[in-house]
Amino acid sequence: THLVKDYKDGTNVYRALNDLSFEIKKGASVGLIGESGSGKSTISKLMVKLEKLDSGSIEFDFKNNKPLSSNIQMIFQDPFAALNPALKVGSMLEEVLNKHQSELSKLEKEQTLNNLLIKVGLTPEDANKYPNEFSGGQRQRLCIARALAAKPVLLICDESTSALDLSVQAQILNLLKELQVTENLSILMITHSMAVAAWFCQYLVLLKNGEIVEQGPSMQLIKHSTNGYTKALLAHT
Ligand code: ADP
Repeated sequence: THLVKDYKDGTNVYRALNDLSFEIKKGASVGLIGESGSGKSTISKLMVKLEKLDSGSIEFDFKNNKPLSSNIQMIFQDPFAALNPALKVGSMLEEVLNKHQSELSKLEKEQTLNNLLIKVGLTPEDANKYPNEFSGGQRQRLCIARALAAKPVLLICDESTSALDLSVQAQILNLLKELQVTENLSILMITHSMAVAAWFCQYLVLLKNGEIVEQGPSMQLIKHSTNGYTKALLAHT
């Protein structure tokens, strides 16, 4: 609500976000769309408290007592950089389960780990492999499995499919769409691609220079927007 973020460099102040308000409902997919530098990543950093707000507030209603780090998980653009190359997939997932689902028994953890891999379209045998034995799309599936291991309520996908080939991109988006329903996830999809957002998201928030240009249900914006910026973004899809 009324988010304001200034970046300061000596005496220079740059306003990256100027009075933004929007809501992500439980189980909904919201797209944050805008050209590079419009403030998308700043919003996600504020949400996970990597940056501090100058004014305004971010309120969460997760309906549980778990920490923010468990309720919100992020999937980044580069699945190569996001995975520890020295850690086998099984150990990587086990680490997250130990931290976020410590109540599980050893056997339950093993079953959960296998299920996570199956859920993202991989196999339990993949637990014995290292990240460099997987393709780019498969590595993004690993990142999704790792995020799900924390049992998040909200998944923030920051340009998660931008670096992938188009066909692989479609597969990952389909997987995320399926998981949104089966895991009852809210998804904040951060993207510069109106095509991705329009297809994936139920609600769109369009950003420009740190301000919201327009927001609303996707279908409504796509069909009826009279805003020049929205129409220009749509024209490129
Ligand atoms: P987007 O994710 O839409 O590309 P960002 O949120 O990364 O946009 O950036 C918004 C604006 O804030 C940009 O002009 C960027 O240069 C500036 N900015 C982002 N992070 C910092 C920082 N740590 N220090 C100074 N300026 C920053």
